[in-house]
Amino acid sequence: MTYQNYSLKQLQQIDASHHLHPFTDHRELREAGSRIITRAEGPYIYDSEGHEILDGMAGLWCVNVGYGRDELAEAAYKQMKELPYYNSFFKCSTPTPVLLAKRLAELAPKGVNQVFFGSSGSEANDTALRLVRHYWALEGKPEKNRIISRKNAYHGSTVAGTSLGGMEPMHKQLGGAVPNIVHVMMPYSYELALPGESDHEFGLRAAKAIEDAILEAGPENVAAFIGEPIMGAGGVKIPPMSYWPEVQRICRKYDVLLMLDEVITGYGRTGEWFAAQSFGIEPDTITTAKALTSGYQPLSALLVGDRIASTLIEKGGEFYHGYTYSGHPVACAVALANLDIIEREGLVERVKTDTGPYFAQALRERIADHRLVGEVRSFGLMGAIEIVKDKATRERFEGDGRAAVVVRDHAIANGLMLRATGDTMILSPPLIWTRDTIDLACERIVKALDLAEKDLF
Ligand code: PLP
Repeated sequence: MTYQNYSLKQLQQIDASHHLHPFTDHRELREAGSRIITRAEGPYIYDSEGHEILDGMAGLWCVNVGYGRDELAEAAYKQMKELPYYNSFFKCSTPTPVLLAKRLAELAPKGVNQVFFGSSGSEANDTALRLVRHYWALEGKPEKNRIISRKNAYHGSTVAGTSLGGMEPMHKQLGGAVPNIVHVMMPYSYELALPGESDHEFGLRAAKAIEDAILEAGPENVAAFIGEPIMGAGGVKIPPMSYWPEVQRICRKYDVLLMLDEVITGYGRTGEWFAAQSFGIEPDTITTAKALTSGYQPLSALLVGDRIASTLIEKGGEFYHGYTYSGHPVACAVALANLDIIEREGLVERVKTDTGPYFAQALRERIADHRLVGEVRSFGLMGAIEIVKDKATRERFEGDGRAAVVVRDHAIANGLMLRATGDTMILSPPLIWTRDTIDLACERIVKALDLAEKDLF
């Protein structure tokens, strides 16, 4: 039986009876009922009531090539018929993860040539944490195992992901984090810069917080620093350009590994294949997932630098870690076809030279002046709009994020899906958006802001 045999009301009732959703207040969900998305095409999603909604979030930061790609469905179908599954344990392999690993090594920044597959970004960060600690143990320094992260970082929802991340409400529910992970300030100048401090100076100060944490622990006890090049779920927090080179310098100075979490920024979103390339970072690990398959299959790839890989290989000994679906042949076939599309259609270059700059200009010229908007910012095709009560003083509305939810609800009702996190509206559209799509999104954002202004004042 297919879902078409059910009415919207029935689906909502069944959903409420049996389905626990991620990151959801289940009482609120049961009161409101879920929005059921039934199909999608190109940049649009359609709900069960037939509404057409422009997807400003690319699903959840992942559908970079847009919806309805037959080529990806065909890649999955062909692989499922030929070999739907075999594992990569016990010295076995299947062709598609082999070829995908080669392709990723070619795309990755210099010195990054090995790949460990999983099914989600959270899993890949678990792998990264296990791997860097294993690396230092193999190097004879098992005490060098502290990880430095940032407040408000998001690194996934497993126990390790939550512990690496810096989201307080998540920590509170965890009831015991993975030990020896500390969190320093995030590089977000709009809220944290001191009066008179330039962006450049602020970036250096935010990087210095990492150095301070290294010195406090003693460099001999610090394994790695982990960070999203641009903090995504924490509100598209774009660091000053002075930040990452300084972080790199500090990590090198104290022999601390640099772990990048590119689950959102990987595969074109910043106008390069990886944000490491946008910011000139040479990392030891890069966590990727989401747009690797444009969300058509669950797949993550931890890209591993030569320093860690060569120790792993030279010293030998089993790395007791892996997943049933590490290197899943179907997911990897879809990833290969997805990378073909991104390459063939020049989507990365388009973000860099055309849609990215146009998006930035559109946010600046059409959104920034609105009474409710404190700041707009973007990098490639990821953007944020800060909602404030008072532009001049940057005072926020009462109710901790309530105002952004009002804007979001008006946006969705007017045909644009975007996300509210705290007081921030987030945009992360598919890379197939054109200048026309950006114009349409801006029209809908202005409309949502105008309607929210009436509600909020
Ligand atoms: N890391 C970052 C930066 C993310 O944004 C996410 C998810 O949004 C994750 C890790 C976790 O990925 P997943 O939800 O696939 O486990």
